[in-house]
Amino acid sequence: MASVRRSGTAALVGRPNVGKSTLLNRLIGIKVAIVSPKPQTTRSRILGVLNAPEGQIAFFDAPGIHRASGALNKYLAELAWQTIREVDAAVMMVEAGTGSASKGDVEDRRILEKLTRLRKPIVLAINKVDRIAKPLLLPQIDRYRGSFEFAEIVPISARTGDGVTALQSAVIQVLPEAEPLFDDNLLTDQTERILAGEYIREQLLRHCREEVPHRSAVVVDYFDESERGKEGVALVRIGATIYVERQNQRAIVIGKRGQMLKSIGSDARRQIEELLGARVYLELRVAVEPGWSDRAGALGKLGYE
Ligand code: GDP
Ligand code: MG
Repeated sequence: MASVRRSGTAALVGRPNVGKSTLLNRLIGIKVAIVSPKPQTTRSRILGVLNAPEGQIAFFDAPGIHRASGALNKYLAELAWQTIREVDAAVMMVEAGTGSASKGDVEDRRILEKLTRLRKPIVLAINKVDRIAKPLLLPQIDRYRGSFEFAEIVPISARTGDGVTALQSAVIQVLPEAEPLFDDNLLTDQTERILAGEYIREQLLRHCREEVPHRSAVVVDYFDESERGKEGVALVRIGATIYVERQNQRAIVIGKRGQMLKSIGSDARRQIEELLGARVYLELRVAVEPGWSDRAGALGKLGYE
């Protein structure tokens, strides 16, 4: 049977914390977007390319869409909608069990109304079905079907993988008939350098949880590959600075006798070594940059322009 190949771009859209990065990582198979229990951890457009027999999807993980205040949040929301306007299809993600008229539901509807106006196919992914009983899901599906027009509604669990293949097929079905846009081998356009920075930030959030709010940034200062080609002793030297807003946050990130920074560094190093397939020498610094997230100027300096 001669099958049609479809190919195009899709954006993952949804409130912070609904599970977009988790899904993207599962779909693409390697860690391309950072995942954390804190909202708003994704700050840049991350392209992951999924190759399937029926076609190819180039995914964009848009940063959290939310009511914006402050330069950083405004920047994030605008970046997200800019991404969404450019793609062939949208995958709107909501959480299973979100009650009607709840705060989350109001926000989901606000996003869906805006999305509908863009007149492109929307596939609705109802995520985290592992957390709720099936009978509770049906009224929620009906509720969405009654209010908006979707190409498909697919219940999934990004965590367990349930329904993820069905979602993948549903997305490919709405893409244009076209040859793949990207080389089959290409998984992401993020450079290893950027990914290394993201991995460090993920470990920073994981280790420091609530003490250091998401107002922190990681900048990779150097990425030295001069010893990468060495037979048997391939080594990449990476230096990065963690920026926090206050002196007391710096103290937390460094920890007693440097223990915290050491743990962050060794966990991040292990992940980066796996990514690069080389030994990594990782040098971390912590710097205080007061109020950086509120100043648009500082955003550019920290690489979020
Ligand atoms: P994003 O902000 O939309 O990118 O959300 P993340 O992918 O960072 O996920 C936010 C939180 O939800 C993390 O703690 C995930 O482990 C969790 N999560 C994501 N998908 C699922 C799922 O299918 N089931 C459950 N129970 N938790 C999930
Ligand atoms: Mg995310």
